[in-house]
Amino acid sequence: MKLNSLRGMQDILPEESHVWQHIEENARGLLELYNYNEIRPPILEQAELFLRSIGEDTDIVEKEMYIFNDKKGRRVALRPEGTASVVRAYIQNSLFNNPSPQKFYYIGPMFRYERPQKGRLRQFHQIGVECFGIAAPSVEAEMLWILKQFFKKLNLKNLTYEINSLGCKKCRPSYKESLFNFLNHKIENLCSDCQRRFVKNPLRVLDCKVPGCREVLKDVPVMIDFLCNDCKTHFFGFQKELEDYEIKYSVNPHIVRGLDYYTGTVFEVTTTMLGAQNAVAAGGRYDDLVGYFGGPKTPAAGFAIGMERLVELSKDNLSIESKKPIVYVAYAGKGLDREVKRVISEIRKEGFIAERAYEDISLKNQLKKADKLGVEWVIIVGEEEIKSSLYKWKKMKEGTQGEAGLEEIIKLLREGR
Ligand code: ATP
Ligand code: MG
Repeated sequence: MKLNSLRGMQDILPEESHVWQHIEENARGLLELYNYNEIRPPILEQAELFLRSIGEDTDIVEKEMYIFNDKKGRRVALRPEGTASVVRAYIQNSLFNNPSPQKFYYIGPMFRYERPQKGRLRQFHQIGVECFGIAAPSVEAEMLWILKQFFKKLNLKNLTYEINSLGCKKCRPSYKESLFNFLNHKIENLCSDCQRRFVKNPLRVLDCKVPGCREVLKDVPVMIDFLCNDCKTHFFGFQKELEDYEIKYSVNPHIVRGLDYYTGTVFEVTTTMLGAQNAVAAGGRYDDLVGYFGGPKTPAAGFAIGMERLVELSKDNLSIESKKPIVYVAYAGKGLDREVKRVISEIRKEGFIAERAYEDISLKNQLKKADKLGVEWVIIVGEEEIKSSLYKWKKMKEGTQGEAGLEEIIKLLREGR
């Protein structure tokens, strides 16, 4: 029987995992400079957490959740996103008692039962950040700045920054009413999904990609024309900050995001390089969510970057240091295992990736293996070498060779680095 991985869930093999590691190390380094610290919530949570925060008539909750009963009949779900878990952890661990702002980042897998295609998987990975405790737009402006710095580090170009405001509890109802009235006359021109959305959550209609719906939406009223004074001030403040950071952005009043908890600022970073799956990162403010889950009223904002799309975009632009072995330690003769271990461990201690034979094979075959591995150096340990403490070394590419003590060999390796 041949067992394969599940549809939409892929192995990240070593050749590519080096790219992942490079991206993750850069993310950690950068985020920690901004005082974001890592949080690692569990991957499985009570389903309720996502059902209640993401919103019932969103794509994620409606069709994309991995949700099932555990052995005790508890309703659980594989997390489809990170924010809800971080909010839960923030409240459960009373992190609001720590000095504000509390800033977290996470890196890890997310699960959504979507139709797998290029750039869209059922297990995918996100790097995300969440900042709790600050209501000012300087937080989300800095987030876009961080994203810009990060993408620059990864040599990414052709990125577009789009922003919008979704208003708040005060101003959104009157907008929804106006949207409802507008769509009400045009229901028959909407796609079947949007006809359903119209009843349950008309805001969702705004980011429908179906051409017929886009046509209907041409002169749809937009939220930013309905913002209350507070939301307006916030949105202008945000834009002013982006100008300070010299981030080129555009206001796209159709961005509504696929999650219901957002309030005020939302943003998306897209690329022209990935075809249909063009969103690389997205986020926004969710000032009501902590309070909604029973924590103290706490303004908050966050974003998440899609790792697979990032890897796809950056893997050809990055020159990543090879993780291939540099040295092969071979033996000529029997009973030399101890000496091989001693020599190779000294070499590894110096930080060189080193490989050896683990079983009894001829020197000729060891050299063949070394050649296949593409090592730069072979060190040969034999009876003679142990006696004289001088080892044979061979530089593979140049074909040069000689004899030297271990210290001398390490010096040679260092010089070649
Ligand atoms: P999309 O519009 O592509 O469905 P989304 O709005 O559902 O994205 P978010 O929930 O905002 O995505 O997640 C943030 C980022 O995570 C996205 O911008 C994208 O890069 C990535 N992402 C989301 N869903 C997937 C998926 N199924 N496979 C791979 N990456 C994904
Ligand atoms: Mg989606």
